Amino acid sequence: MPRSNWQEHKWRRDRLWELGLKRDEYGKYLESPHWQECRKLKLDEQRDVVGYNFCEKCGRRPEATRKTALNVHHLTYERLGNELLDDLQIICRPCHDKEHGRDLETQKRWYDPRRFE
Ligand SMILES: [Zn+2]
Ligand SMILES: [Zn+2]
Repeated sequence: MPRSNWQEHKWRRDRLWELGLKRDEYGKYLESPHWQECRKLKLDEQRDVVGYNFCEKCGRRPEATRKTALNVHHLTYERLGNELLDDLQIICRPCHDKEHGRDLETQKRWYDPRRFE
């Protein structure tokens, strides 16, 4: 997360609340049709530009057959529920785990690496 964790946590909590979700219901958000559509748009955009999907951190290009190999990560939660494609980053599983691993104590309550975010 590029901005302070404190601000990001606040944004995530506030936006979830605006969406009618509790602060620990981020998982529900990730399963919502809106987010599924949003992550698909992000992946489609990259594919339209370069012809395939790859990790924007390390450049890794997982086989297309492994649907879960690439995650869509929130660079910021400022517009959660109404994200700009620029708020998101396509990232491979190992990079994603690393990205969230920094703050395990506060994030393990909601972060489930099996989910897309
Ligand atoms: Zn990566
Ligand atoms: Zn993430």
